[in-house]
Amino acid sequence: MNAEQKITGMDVWHVQLPVNARRDHGIGSVEHAVDIIILRLTAEGGETGWGEASPWSVFTGSAEASFAALDRYIRPLVVGRTIGERATIMKDAQKAVAHCTEAKAALESALLDLQGRISGLPVWALLGGKCRDTIPLSCSIADPDFDRDLALMERLKEDGVRIIKLKTGFKGHEFDMMRMEHLRMNYPEFSIRVDYNQGLHHDSALACVRDIATFQPDFIEQPVAHNLRELMATIRNSIDVPLLADESIFGPEDMLTAIKMGIADGVSVKIMKTGGLTRAQTVARMAATAGMSAYGGDMFESGLAHLAGTHMIAATPEITLACEFYQAKYFLVEDLMETPFETRGGDVIVPQTAGLGGRPDLEKVERYAISKSAVMGAA
Ligand SMILES: [Mg+2]
Repeated sequence: MNAEQKITGMDVWHVQLPVNARRDHGIGSVEHAVDIIILRLTAEGGETGWGEASPWSVFTGSAEASFAALDRYIRPLVVGRTIGERATIMKDAQKAVAHCTEAKAALESALLDLQGRISGLPVWALLGGKCRDTIPLSCSIADPDFDRDLALMERLKEDGVRIIKLKTGFKGHEFDMMRMEHLRMNYPEFSIRVDYNQGLHHDSALACVRDIATFQPDFIEQPVAHNLRELMATIRNSIDVPLLADESIFGPEDMLTAIKMGIADGVSVKIMKTGGLTRAQTVARMAATAGMSAYGGDMFESGLAHLAGTHMIAATPEITLACEFYQAKYFLVEDLMETPFETRGGDVIVPQTAGLGGRPDLEKVERYAISKSAVMGAA
């Protein structure tokens, strides 16, 4: 690889991908389509690197904010720089625009993909080397129509998936208890996690969580609002099931606070929250250092963001609780990728080829795009 090779082009698309079901979470719902931002960097010689920002307005931010962050504020920091300057570019992007962590994840993914393709190395090799070739897959159960989720359960069982995450806190405690009991009784081969996505009111949270904990799920995630950290610590100390933090911990700064306050036994690590793959690794390492566990979470993503997360987890031994890259196969009507995001027997397969090991189909990107950057191709 020639580290002096310059980045000459940057293209950004706002894409809407149709989905096959409704998903209800404690903080909001997704129906009809998900909004993602696709980034393509081009280097001298024509090689390209790809990244995805997968925002959710109620959680991390809006697609429009991610688009503007990349197209307007980050573009001048990237075009004309060399591919060997990845760390500096990421530091400058942190300063250039506040928040917009999904945009920064897309940027680092595209820089790593580009560097990997030019050097012939998989992204995991650029992140320190791999510690695993497969990652167990968890799929979320989040349809307000439970019968539809039971049909999904049969498909998961057939496919060899053995971990589910029951999304709770959006349709009342009785509904949550009924589904939990049904799943425990009828699907004993499955590990079950529970995620409230902040959906419980602070007055009743402890009682609801204690009830759900009687089913002994693997863990219970983010029962209350992200800022109620003292209540998180109280709940953690009141149950005999591990409590995980998601919305309370975006990056290393939040992780430090979480450790100091003892708010959880583990953390959901997502590149879309941390603002990139290397910062996600930092969060996982901080967690492990403090005796906390970590799992690989995601947002409503296409296979492109799944690939970035897969490489990050492959290079991060501290993430031990599987991943949830299920959307490309089980939620999107059609994924964007040229070749399907690979899962087999309930596992995500870590790619062994250069870069991310897969790229979007440009025809699909254009077909689903609702807007794209005015400056396309070489700047
Ligand atoms: Mg969560």
